[in-house]
Amino acid sequence: MTKTPAQNTPATIYLKDYARPEFTIEKLDLEFELTAAMTTVKSTMELHKVDATTQHLVLQGEALELISISMNKNILLPEQYRLTATQLTILAVPETFSLEIIVQIKPQENTQLSGLYRSGATFVTQCEAEGFRRITYFLDRPDVLTHYTTKIIADRHQYPHLLSNGNLVAKGELENQRHWVKWEDPFRKPCYLFALVAGQFELLEDYFITQSGRRILLHIYTEKGYLDQCHCAMQAVKKAMTWDEENYGREYDLDIFMIVAISDFNSGAMENKGLNIFNTKYILAKPDTATDEDYIYIQTVVAHEYFHNWTGNRITCRDWFQLSLKEGLTVFRDQSFTADVTDHGVARIYDVNKLRNRQFPEDAGPLAHPVRPDSYIEISNFYTTTIYEKGAEIIRVIQTLLGKVLFRRGMDLYFTRHDGQAVTIEDFVRAMEDASGMNLTQCRLWYEQAGTPLVKVTADYDAATKRYTLTLEQGCLPTPGQPYKKPMHIPVRTALFDHQGQTLLLDTDDGRPGLEKILQLKEITTTVTFKNVPERPIPSLLRHFSAPIKLQFDYSEEELVLLIKHDTDAFNRWEASQIYAQRLLLELIATYQQKRPLQMPEKFTELLRSLLNDKQLNKQLLSALLTLPSEIYLAEHMAVVDVEAIFAAREFVKLNIATALRAEFFATYQENVTTETGIIFTLANVGKRQLKNVALQYLLLLPDPALRKLGHQQFVTSLPLNMTDTMAALRGLSHLAIPERELALEQFYTRWRHEPLIIDKWFAVQAASLLPDTLPQVERLTHHEAFDIKNPNKVYALIGTFGQQNMLRFHAADGAGYHFLGKFILQLDKLNSNVAARMLKPLTEWRRQDSSRAALMCAQLEIMMRTPGISNDIYELVTKSLA
Ligand SMILES: [Zn+2]
Repeated sequence: MTKTPAQNTPATIYLKDYARPEFTIEKLDLEFELTAAMTTVKSTMELHKVDATTQHLVLQGEALELISISMNKNILLPEQYRLTATQLTILAVPETFSLEIIVQIKPQENTQLSGLYRSGATFVTQCEAEGFRRITYFLDRPDVLTHYTTKIIADRHQYPHLLSNGNLVAKGELENQRHWVKWEDPFRKPCYLFALVAGQFELLEDYFITQSGRRILLHIYTEKGYLDQCHCAMQAVKKAMTWDEENYGREYDLDIFMIVAISDFNSGAMENKGLNIFNTKYILAKPDTATDEDYIYIQTVVAHEYFHNWTGNRITCRDWFQLSLKEGLTVFRDQSFTADVTDHGVARIYDVNKLRNRQFPEDAGPLAHPVRPDSYIEISNFYTTTIYEKGAEIIRVIQTLLGKVLFRRGMDLYFTRHDGQAVTIEDFVRAMEDASGMNLTQCRLWYEQAGTPLVKVTADYDAATKRYTLTLEQGCLPTPGQPYKKPMHIPVRTALFDHQGQTLLLDTDDGRPGLEKILQLKEITTTVTFKNVPERPIPSLLRHFSAPIKLQFDYSEEELVLLIKHDTDAFNRWEASQIYAQRLLLELIATYQQKRPLQMPEKFTELLRSLLNDKQLNKQLLSALLTLPSEIYLAEHMAVVDVEAIFAAREFVKLNIATALRAEFFATYQENVTTETGIIFTLANVGKRQLKNVALQYLLLLPDPALRKLGHQQFVTSLPLNMTDTMAALRGLSHLAIPERELALEQFYTRWRHEPLIIDKWFAVQAASLLPDTLPQVERLTHHEAFDIKNPNKVYALIGTFGQQNMLRFHAADGAGYHFLGKFILQLDKLNSNVAARMLKPLTEWRRQDSSRAALMCAQLEIMMRTPGISNDIYELVTKSLA
């Protein structure tokens, strides 16, 4: 694999330079001959010039050995083409011609896991974004759509299953124990959706009857011995198929839908047409091997990839700047699905937490970029939470502005108008406008402007006229390349409460009284007056998080408590609790910085006590209400991050809560123990386990041997039965320097040492430990027999957790955490630049650290810049961070 060395500055690609493809490809026939030493790929395609004046055909290709090229069945001579490390140019081509190219590749040496590679004994592909050029020379861009047939030839015993996109149309036997199959995909597609898998699998079979009565075969392929772990994923496929029919009228279009679970995979999963390829992490689950959180992820990711069949595959992106066209929209669809099959309030809390902890820091840092970026060096760096999660929030904003009925009409129009095309975000927005008659001009700014808008709200009540006025002022800080921001179109869902906690009736836009009003912010300042308001109300603002913004309102403590207890919007109940806790924590952080003694206000613990005693509360919501804002979220609220102060304040509050509410937590723990029959994944059981384990985390903070024994007891009892309880106990113990910790880690490893996916949890829990020797432990674990730098899941579990979730130990004042990560990234970059770039992110966010830490972080980035041969991926992130 040749990567451009950073010393030759890699080229930047701009959206404004987009030009239509110069050729169309009528059809593409692929033939793969797979052997242990070498794979031969023969491609045959029919090409037409779009414009007769075009002279040459330029194809992309990387890490390929060219064997031969024939045009219209004549072998080309070396003077008829030009070959570089990344391009094949066929000179002076006719208007219409056929081209046959034969190349050889070595999948077994492909550690980038892009293109065709080996995962154990299996051949597998990953082509998004630009992996197809590592399989053969091609017009590797998403707006070149064509019909594919794929013939695969391989050893019958080693590779009994030979899979590709579409429908299986022929198969046969060959000499030397070999066999072949031929797949044909009736739908035109871009090459990033091509897939091939060859290996030995176990197969879980099922079927689905579509709304029009078609019978679809459902296949999940997995390594031997894991079939019993595929049922959750199979159920998720069926639920997703039903949901997409009911909510979007979208039916599956091929006769077979296949999923293959693979151990070595850079990302979560890939939506290749008819043949989704998944990281095993998002398929395999049994109560003793997967946590409740894993179960929910599996449902969500399976649904996400399935939903891509319409939002991504049938209608695809014109170019990679439009990535959010498919990803933002599909995340929105998977979020809506998960909310429907779980709980709307709890799902929303989860989504917003993720957005705030990951996307908000990105949007405030050196890598901030619009949801539709204007330029990139390495597209794989743009699979970001901004493109995905903020992109999903924009779709939600559009849905809120249009209302559900018009939004659905817009989706219907988008599907009928653009089926089979490669389109832009602009095409999507226009379909929404045309179907609804609404003007979304200002809404487009959400795609163009980076940064998180801040809305400051003030209120005024006039008792004489009974008028209540809210003044909302919006602004947004500069981001790289965007010093000034225009005001955005922001929908703020609002309700008003009286002092008894009752919702007040409001005059809504359509003239009828209602309980909620959507305030539409378009100017820098917006004033809204509510009439006939009998008393000064308590506003519930930005309900259900109706826009991806930061909102400030100066609530009194009593008002927050009222919203926590009475708001009818579950999300805003949680939000009020977070504002309350965040305010307290920020005050304690300031006190700590002034070296004054910390004091715990009794009111806060009393509030939590009353919540714990409220038996009506949804247990998952209660668990969220009892959980303090994360370190990352608190850091977002500080001009200069003070790692020690954040940690000290948070631990102080947690310990005080645990001490004051010990009896309540203990009772809660006992009330929610699930018996053996309760291990099954149901929402009621999930809620019980979650609440019990939140109680356990608090109890384990107390220096009481009996409670620590309780933690270890839960670990031992649940180890053969239930991973949720096992991991909760292990997580609690992992922060304590006690013999039970070492014992539990050893017991876990002994039980699961032969299950790589489960050992990832063991790596992650150690990397997240708050104990002072965590870094040396992590370093030691990189040499552990179970660690493998070539397996992305291992890297994410150990290195990713340490860098991205262990703020205290990663940001050690002496810079040892930075040094370790910097060195690791350089080592990994040579093998897998995509995963290396994902690990780099915590080092790029140095600007908000104190000057000493910032200097140490920059020193690591500068070492990378001086290292010969770093990948474009790393080069782009480092230069943007240091700019
Ligand atoms: Zn996706």
